[in-house]
Amino acid sequence: MFRKVHYRLTLLCAGITIFILLVMSFIYLYVSETGLKQSHFLSFQRDAGTLIANFEQQAVITHTWLSQMESLNAFTISITDNGVPLLFSEREQDEKRKNTEQEALEYYHSHFAVLLVDSGSRSRSYHTEFSFTSSTQEDYYVSYACLPSESGETQLLILSPMEPLNLQIRTQRIRFACIDLSAALLLFLFSFFFTKKILIPVEENRLEQIRFVAAASHELRTPLAVILSCTGAIRGHNGKKALPEEEETFLNTIYSEGQRMKRLIDDMLFLSRADSHSFSVNQEPIEPDTLLLNSYEAFEALAAEKNISLRIFLPESALPPCLGDSERLRQLIAILLHNAVSYTPESGTIRLSLTCSKGQKTGNTALNRGDSYTIAVTDNGIGIPDEEKSRIFHRFYRSDRSRSTKEHFGLGLCIAEEIVHSLKGTIRVEDTPGGGSTFLVQLPFLPVP
Ligand code: ADP
Repeated sequence: MFRKVHYRLTLLCAGITIFILLVMSFIYLYVSETGLKQSHFLSFQRDAGTLIANFEQQAVITHTWLSQMESLNAFTISITDNGVPLLFSEREQDEKRKNTEQEALEYYHSHFAVLLVDSGSRSRSYHTEFSFTSSTQEDYYVSYACLPSESGETQLLILSPMEPLNLQIRTQRIRFACIDLSAALLLFLFSFFFTKKILIPVEENRLEQIRFVAAASHELRTPLAVILSCTGAIRGHNGKKALPEEEETFLNTIYSEGQRMKRLIDDMLFLSRADSHSFSVNQEPIEPDTLLLNSYEAFEALAAEKNISLRIFLPESALPPCLGDSERLRQLIAILLHNAVSYTPESGTIRLSLTCSKGQKTGNTALNRGDSYTIAVTDNGIGIPDEEKSRIFHRFYRSDRSRSTKEHFGLGLCIAEEIVHSLKGTIRVEDTPGGGSTFLVQLPFLPVP
C-alpha cells in the first residue's frame, strides 16, 4: 500500500513539475523564435534596401560587383531588363536556382504585384520583401525591386535562403529538448526521494497503529479467555459442572477480569481521544497543595499494604491557587504513584513533593505568569536502566520485569505524557540518588484572573 502511494505521489509530483517546465519552455521558445524571425527579416530588408540603393547609383553593373554583393550578403541576385534577363543573370546555369527564382516571381505576381500596379507605383522605383517556401520545401527571404530605366524598367530579384535561421532554430530546439529531458529526469528522481521522505512519518504512524492494535488485541485476549473458561466451567461445557462453592470463585474471577478489560478499554479510549485531539482540558482554579495532599491520602493505604513509607513534601508557604485541570492532574499523579508503589519493593520509600520555580529573577517571591511548579514522585525501587528511559513512554511498552503483573498494560506513562502535554508542561525521568526513579512533572503557573 505504502509503495503504491509512494509511486502515485512521485508521478503526481514529477508530472506537475515537468508539465510546468514544458509549458515554460514552449512559451520561451515561441517568444524567442518569433523575435529571431523578425530580426532576421528586418536585417534582410535592410541589406536588400542598401543593395538596391547601391544598384541605382551604379552607372555600370559589373560581374565583379554583383559577385561581391552576392557573397557578402549570402544572396542570389538576378536582374532583368523589361522582363529580359541581363547577361550576368545567365552566369549560373544552375537549374535549381532558376526554378526557385521563377517560383519566387510567380509568388510575387500572385500576392503583391496587383496591389502595387493599382497604387500607381510604376513611375518610381519600389521594392517588396517577403518570405516564401519553394516546391523543394526550402524557405527563402525574397526582395523584388522595379527600377525605372531609360529603356523602361529594370527588375531585381534577390533571394536569401533561410537555412541559417532554420538551423539556429533547430539547434535551439534540440538544446531545449536536451535540457528539458535532463531536468525531467532530475525532477523525477527528486520527487521519488522527496515523497519517500515525507511519507516516512506516515508509514511510521501506520506501523505504530498496527502495533497498537496488535498489542491491544493481545492484552484483551487474555482476560477474555479467562472469562470464557470460567463461564464454560460454570455451565459445565467440559461435561463437569462446577460445584456451587466453586461458582463463587469463578464469578469473582469473571468480575475482576471484566474490570481489567474495562480499565484497558478506558485507557485506549483516552489515547484515541488524545490522538484525535478531542479530549478536553479544563482551566479551573485549583490548589496544587490540596491536590497533592488528596492524592497522597488516596495512596496511603495501598503503600501501607506493601509496607512502603509514603511521604509528602509541600512548600512552607502554600502555593497560590492557579488555573489547571484537577481531574487530569489527579489522574497523572495517580499513574506515577501507582507505578512507584508497583516498582518499589517492601520497606521502600516514596516521596511526593511540590516545588515552585521562578521563570524570571525578580525581587518578588510570589509566583506570576511565566513561573512554574514541579510535582516530583521519587522512589527507591528497582529503577529504570538508561536504555529504557525513552522507551517507557511508548504505548504498551513494559519492561520484562513488569510483565508478570496483571495490573500493568504499559499505557500508564504514555497517558501521563499526553496529560502533561495537554497542560503545556513537561515530564521526565531521572535516577534517584542511591537507586530508584524520580518522575518530574513541570507545569506552567497560570494565575487565576
Ligand atoms: P505499566 O502499566 O507497565 O506500568 P507504564 O507506561 O506506566 O506501564 O510504565 C512503562 C514501564 O516503565 C513499566 O513497565 C516499567 O518498566 C517502567 N516504570 C514506570 N514507572 C517506574 C518506576 N517508578 N520504577 C521503575 N520502573 C518504572
